[in-house]
Amino acid sequence: MTSTTSVTLKGTNWGRSRRHNLPKAQRDIEQQFAMIWDQLAAYGVRAGDADAARAVIRRLADDPEFMTHAYASRRSWGGPLPKAPVFTTGAGSKKTAATGERIKESIMYGAPANEAAAWLELNPADPLAIKCACAGVGLRNRCTFSTRGCRAACLYTSGHGTVPKTMKGRVARTIFSQVDTLSWFVIVYRQLRAKNRTATRTGVPHMVRMCGTEDLAYELHPITSMIFEDFSSLRFDDYTKYPAQERPHMVFGPTLVRSVWTDRDSVDVVVALILSGERISIVCDSFEPWASVPGAIDATTGDDWIDDPSNRVGVLEPLGDCLPADVYSSAEIVAALVAALA
Ligand code: SF4
Repeated sequence: MTSTTSVTLKGTNWGRSRRHNLPKAQRDIEQQFAMIWDQLAAYGVRAGDADAARAVIRRLADDPEFMTHAYASRRSWGGPLPKAPVFTTGAGSKKTAATGERIKESIMYGAPANEAAAWLELNPADPLAIKCACAGVGLRNRCTFSTRGCRAACLYTSGHGTVPKTMKGRVARTIFSQVDTLSWFVIVYRQLRAKNRTATRTGVPHMVRMCGTEDLAYELHPITSMIFEDFSSLRFDDYTKYPAQERPHMVFGPTLVRSVWTDRDSVDVVVALILSGERISIVCDSFEPWASVPGAIDATTGDDWIDDPSNRVGVLEPLGDCLPADVYSSAEIVAALVAALA
């Protein structure tokens, strides 16, 4: 028999004592989704027993009664109709500029940093804001290492992100993941499983970005990391602002690119990162000076460049609300790189 879960807004104390020694990215994601252990206790899972938790999640993803509950819960927290996708997936497959192969791409967009909380404050009369206020919902920062500049210029505020309905949808998704984490994650798991099956059947590679406009280390959570082990036909990629020591590359995890920003990372830091072997993405005034740098690629056409390990520096053009101060001078960085290599 399926038991449905109740919402416990305060989350759990599980693992609090061991958090002191964990990388920040791991502490962040454990706190973000702490509630899931309380919810799984209803299914006989002991806190910290990742194998049992994963087995229950695989089972729930096939349980019609649980899925009905999960979709209803999502709807009650401002979400879309049942079965609506969590991911934004491009229509058909596209030929990549970087490798020339055909791929599909899916991205999960949420509300970055503290944008969900800010939206609730700006829209106090919205039913979602009222529900959150009544339930005493406290939201966590989704981008711990974001900077003032990147928050201001975040892609969250460009393109479709500026449409009020889209913005609310992203806010609702972020809230739902924190107030009914189990339902949210089972929906995500089920949708990824379908993509994985399709990729296996068709042979068309499917690239997934879990963090379109957030920065969460899914691979460092004992439960959420199961997606990287279970779905080997999917290619997970993400940009992150966590430093390498906080969020190292994992065998079961996304291919990571460190995203640098002018108000945190000096030219010297950027050069040191490149020389250390880290792959980076960088917003620059022009690609031209980079053209002679091995491993540098114009990354404006899409994220597929990440899949090719020979691409070391993804050069992006300013988007969103980028100010001149948010943009690196390509000539300056390339000159510093050449000098460091001389
Ligand atoms: S640019 Fe990245 S780290 Fe910065 S606010 Fe947006 S999603 Fe978060």
